Amino acid sequence: MSLTNKYELTHPLSPSLKERGSGGESFRAVFFDMDGVLFDSMPGHAFAWAKVMTEYGLPMKEVDAFVNEGRTGIGTISIFTQRYWGRDATEEEARELYRRKTIVFNEYMASRGGEAPEIPGAGAVLNKVRACGMKRVLVTGSAQQSLLTRLEQHYPGHFTADLMVTGDDVRYGKPNPEPYLMALKKAGVTANEALVVENAPLGVRAAVAAGIPTIAVNTGPLPNHLLMDEGATWLFPSMQTLADVWDILFAPASGQQNK
Ligand code: MG
Repeated sequence: MSLTNKYELTHPLSPSLKERGSGGESFRAVFFDMDGVLFDSMPGHAFAWAKVMTEYGLPMKEVDAFVNEGRTGIGTISIFTQRYWGRDATEEEARELYRRKTIVFNEYMASRGGEAPEIPGAGAVLNKVRACGMKRVLVTGSAQQSLLTRLEQHYPGHFTADLMVTGDDVRYGKPNPEPYLMALKKAGVTANEALVVENAPLGVRAAVAAGIPTIAVNTGPLPNHLLMDEGATWLFPSMQTLADVWDILFAPASGQQNK
C-alpha cells in the first residue's frame, strides 16, 4: 500500500494530514514509545516516584511523574533537588534513590499480578501499522534487559532487536531529540517518512525536535493541551481510538488512487 498526502480525517481534535501533513512523502515507519503507549506502566512508576522522592524529603506528587515522563532517572531527580535543595543530585544520591524507586515499582507490580498490562488498543494499532507495510520501531528510555522478550510475548512479530532504541543506546534521552534521530537512522527513513506515537509531553517534545510528525495519545491524567503545546500534530484519547480511525487517517482521500 502506498500512501500519499491526500488523506481525510474527521476526528474533532485532529487536523488532517492535508492541513499539517508531511509534504507528500509516504510514511514508512512508526516509532512507538513504550510506557503509557504499549504498556500501562505509568501508574506504577508514578506511585513509586512519589513515594520514594517524598521519603527523601523531595515532595513529589504522582502527577509530577507524568509531567516528567521520558526524562532519565537522574534528570527527574535533579528537577526536584534543584527545587528543594538548590542543587543537582550527586550521582550517588541519584543512584541510591533510583535503586529504591525501582524496588518500590517492582513491589507495586508484584502486588498487581507481576507486570504492567497492555494498553487497550495498542495491539490493534500495531496490526494496522503492519497492514500498511510500515516498520514498527520501539523508542524508549527504559533499559530493561527483558524488554524484547516481553514485547514478543504481548505483541508477537512486531519488534526486532535491530529496530529498537532503548535507554542503553542513548546519551541524553528524551526530551532531547537524540533517541528519535537514532530511530530514523536505524529504520533508514527520513523524518517526513516517519510517525511517532507518544503519550508524554516531553516525549512529544523530543519527537517534534527531531522533525517527525507526532501522534499524541493521552492515556494519563494530564490535560490535552500539554501534549498539543509541545507540537503534537494529532491527539487521541486512547490507543483504541487511534486504531479505530487508522484506516480513515491513512486511507487515500476519495478519488485518490494508490500509486
Ligand atoms: Mg511514555
